[in-house]
Amino acid sequence: MNRVALLGATGSIGTSALDVIARHPQRYQVQALAAHRDVDGLLKLCARFKPSLVGIADPYCADALAAGLKAHGLHSVQMLVGPTGLDQMAGASEVDTVVAAIVGAAGLSSTLAAACAGKRILLANKESVVIAGALLFDALAAHGGCIIPLDSEHNAVFQCLPQGFARDPDAHGIRRIVLTASGGPFRGFSREQLAQVTPEQAVKHPRWQMGRKISVDSASLMNKGLEVIEAHWLFGLPAERIDVLVHPESLIHSLVEYTDGSLLAQLGPADMRTPIAQALAWPERIDSGVQRLDLLAAGELHFEPVDRVNFRCLELAYAALRAGGAAPAILNAANEVAVDAFLTGALSFLGIADVIESTLDAVVQSETSTLHALLDLDREARRVAVREMNRLGTGHE
Ligand code: NAD
Ligand code: MG
Repeated sequence: MNRVALLGATGSIGTSALDVIARHPQRYQVQALAAHRDVDGLLKLCARFKPSLVGIADPYCADALAAGLKAHGLHSVQMLVGPTGLDQMAGASEVDTVVAAIVGAAGLSSTLAAACAGKRILLANKESVVIAGALLFDALAAHGGCIIPLDSEHNAVFQCLPQGFARDPDAHGIRRIVLTASGGPFRGFSREQLAQVTPEQAVKHPRWQMGRKISVDSASLMNKGLEVIEAHWLFGLPAERIDVLVHPESLIHSLVEYTDGSLLAQLGPADMRTPIAQALAWPERIDSGVQRLDLLAAGELHFEPVDRVNFRCLELAYAALRAGGAAPAILNAANEVAVDAFLTGALSFLGIADVIESTLDAVVQSETSTLHALLDLDREARRVAVREMNRLGTGHE
């Protein structure tokens, strides 16, 4: 029995993961569930899956959760409160596998706690790798844990890598990897059109059903930028050996190119339950509940270059990866501030890249070798991003 902790259980990834897990009660036990402040959502999940640990990140919601657990007759569940409670959950001895599905930098500390406890981490929370790639992989090496990527592109690459791959592409004849991108809801838009887009349009992704933050990231192509940085850490490739290719059908989830000219790709329907099932069962395979991909019905597959001029976030991410040090963490913090502002109508869509660029210019590089230093840097970058947003204006025409 594999005992699973789901951090971010009420979100899009959390829901898909529980769907797969529920299909295999003989293999997986939902040991722990955590969310931010969706008490009702968490209670429903607790009533169904009967975890032994439940975590709530927002301490103000703890009383409501305690009352709800009592009302549901769930007396034996242990409650863990606040970010430190979630860290404790991620490292708990009664947990084997941690699904890291919190959105944003808020997931960093618990992902790192899971790494320090030597867990098997099923990683959706790409932001934690972007911010703290070095720290995370040092912790995995020191404590015997591992990461299996859930992000569909990275999971595809993972599936196309040879047995025994240990982040050393040259040892395995790997020339480069190609991350595919759907292009998002604004593919083909001109700058004039992008200046007018609304949050409602941005969160309507043409291929994937996802949380609001990653949906905006997909629309701006910052999602692909974060994924390039994520790929660098997961697979040990430099920026110039990680390419991005627009593939609007989202059926090829990414590719690995070998020195002999072979390109290995992973295909499947655009449904996160496939990478989740692959990561849960690896190296075995289990049913995910996903509809089979009918290539005849799918028709033609298309490929396009990325519009790097109008979608500046991707270049900013490549530049941050090349700069190294604190730059990716600053990029991520500024992006989180800008996306929040865009979603509330306080910033234009094109303003997102402007805020990130000027924050990267303004924040002084600092030390990134401890979680504490990274959290300080994250706070400082957010403060500067808000200041830069005020200085630049809303970006609305
Ligand atoms: P979501 O918004 O649907 O869910 C986020 C989850 O995180 C919720 O359960 C929420 O309660 C929890 N959460 C939010 N803030 C928190 C905090 N401060 N502390 C603790 N928990 C908190 O997001 P999602 O779409 O499921 O994405 C989750 C992560 O997975 C993101 O990093 C995203 O980039 C990544 N990802 C998502 C998809 C997808 O298809 N949704 C695909 C690839 C990667
Ligand atoms: Mg992805």
